Amino acid sequence: MQNKKANRSIKPIYLDYQATTPTDPRVVKAMLPFFSESFGNPHSVDHAYGWEAEEVVDKARQQIADVIGADPREIIFTSGATESNNLAIKGLAHFLRDNPRGSPRNRIITTTIEHKCVLESVNRLEREGFDVIRLPVDAMGLVDMEALSKAVTEETVLVSIMAVNNEIGVIQHLSRIGEICKAAGAKFHTDAAQAVGKIPLDVNKMQIDLMSISGHKIYGPKGIGALYVRRRPRIRLEPLIDGGGQERGLRSGTLATPLCVGLGAAAQYANEEMFGEYDRLSSLSRRFQEGLKAGLVGVSFNGDPEQRIPGNLNVTFEDVSGVELMKSIPGLALSMGSACTSADLDPSYVLKALGLNESQALSSLRIGLGRFTKEEEVDQAIDLLIKAVGKLRSAPRGS
Ligand SMILES: *Cc1c(COP(=O)(O)O)cnc(C)c1O
Repeated sequence: MQNKKANRSIKPIYLDYQATTPTDPRVVKAMLPFFSESFGNPHSVDHAYGWEAEEVVDKARQQIADVIGADPREIIFTSGATESNNLAIKGLAHFLRDNPRGSPRNRIITTTIEHKCVLESVNRLEREGFDVIRLPVDAMGLVDMEALSKAVTEETVLVSIMAVNNEIGVIQHLSRIGEICKAAGAKFHTDAAQAVGKIPLDVNKMQIDLMSISGHKIYGPKGIGALYVRRRPRIRLEPLIDGGGQERGLRSGTLATPLCVGLGAAAQYANEEMFGEYDRLSSLSRRFQEGLKAGLVGVSFNGDPEQRIPGNLNVTFEDVSGVELMKSIPGLALSMGSACTSADLDPSYVLKALGLNESQALSSLRIGLGRFTKEEEVDQAIDLLIKAVGKLRSAPRGS
């Protein structure tokens, strides 16, 4: 979005932790041996190279399971949350449609603010003949539980509602959604890419049947994720990838041992440090918010002020173009919202779902704080934003 060449020499302050996170150095260290000396195929059962790899993959599975209250046998490694979401949604719908003892249920319920990979998976199922309901959210970004109760019937195969939104940081009422699904016999999938290691999650308490996890959102490597698939009662899925039958036949292909180890370690660190990090990021976010409010008029913060993860601020700067604002501050790495759609200039569909108009949505930026954000960086960012907004607002219009 910015002039890439001109700015290459400067290292901007990173404020885009919802797009991706750097791999924690401790995680990199844990992964390194499995690229070189310990290179075995975890599926080789005939020698020590294979056994060693299998052992560390099992450990990683356990580490991930522990974070969400699951059994390690319920963790399927994938290439990331995109694949996990596709496997959960299409895999469940297709299994039930194609299995002779499957279900006549044909309805899928989701929301208008899901990540593109959920929306597009559901769109595909709709083209195939499934009946899709996309629930709106209120002005705070929350799904109305009464509307959900009404929509979920004996016709419903699957409810897919994200745990935490990637643009506005809002946390949905997962336990309540789980209850509603359970009562109607519908399966509950949640995209927890932005939630794992940030808020407590328990697949049993929350009655979640399928949960998507991404490595690179939790200071693990890119290219790995996981799908939690409930065993009791057993959730059956049609695989997306056929082959040697790895991952209980749900995801064939040789596992990437170093990446599995990285995801396991990242999940464990995030979980161990969750509460301390929650407090630290809450105070940094508050500092950021108060700093902007003190220095500027016409700023508002999108998404529920309470039901949110602390490392996310989504800010509307009235009468300022978000794109122009980002361009004018090359020292800050910010984004308009989703990294997937930041190439186009369409206003965010998530912000529009909250009721913002086009111009408000285009005046909004996402600020993502994380594990390596320092207080001085927050102060510098506040200062840079206040100056830049002031300058853009005082510039003659239409130039
Ligand atoms: C990043 C993200 C994804 C996609 O995850 P990948 O691991 O990059 O495929 C899906 N959903 C949400 C909410 C995300 O933030």
